[in-house]
Amino acid sequence: MRIGVIAIQGNIEEHASAIKEASRIANIGSEIIKIKHKGIVPSCDAIIIPGGESTTIGRLMEKEGISSEIKKIARAGVPIMGTCAGLILLAKHGDEQVEKTKQPLLELMDIRVNRNAFGRQKESFEAQVDFKGLDSPFNAVFIRAPCITEAGREVEVLARYDHAIVAARQKNLLALAFHPELTGDFRIHLYFMKMFK
Ligand code: GLN
Repeated sequence: MRIGVIAIQGNIEEHASAIKEASRIANIGSEIIKIKHKGIVPSCDAIIIPGGESTTIGRLMEKEGISSEIKKIARAGVPIMGTCAGLILLAKHGDEQVEKTKQPLLELMDIRVNRNAFGRQKESFEAQVDFKGLDSPFNAVFIRAPCITEAGREVEVLARYDHAIVAARQKNLLALAFHPELTGDFRIHLYFMKMFK
């Protein structure tokens, strides 16, 4: 399996080691490819879009021609996981702030996002969330996290925190408001790997 990690910003190494651990547990061979330029996405079996600043990541992906490649493979059914800023980028619709700044989104998932959902006082925090399909709560690390405020019929809600949707899946697309790569718990990376063909 060739797993591409968009390597513009964010916890690239942490995602790479979480995938390595998850592949070891699942006994699936994996190669991690860090993506900074166009031409690599089409050869990947799965893609991870890490956190960071969604405006920066979105603009650079567009400038580098990575965005159109991701849209194409996403429509072909290749699994894509977006965490935090990655969740924002997967969304079809943003909040007022997103719309006002016209930041580019990939517009793949039928969700609306609130870009800075938890406000300044709660810039970063941890919480135990129940994640559908996992046998015990996941310790979720939120860092200036977004949330999903509306989800279409094809979207399966996987986790909520304080009534806000913080994890969801639409077929081959997985969006998380928190950072599963930061806790040493690889169950969500394993969940993602189970989405591989
Ligand atoms: N709030 C950030 C954004 O708008 C995302 C934060 C994160 O990825 N840790 O891009």
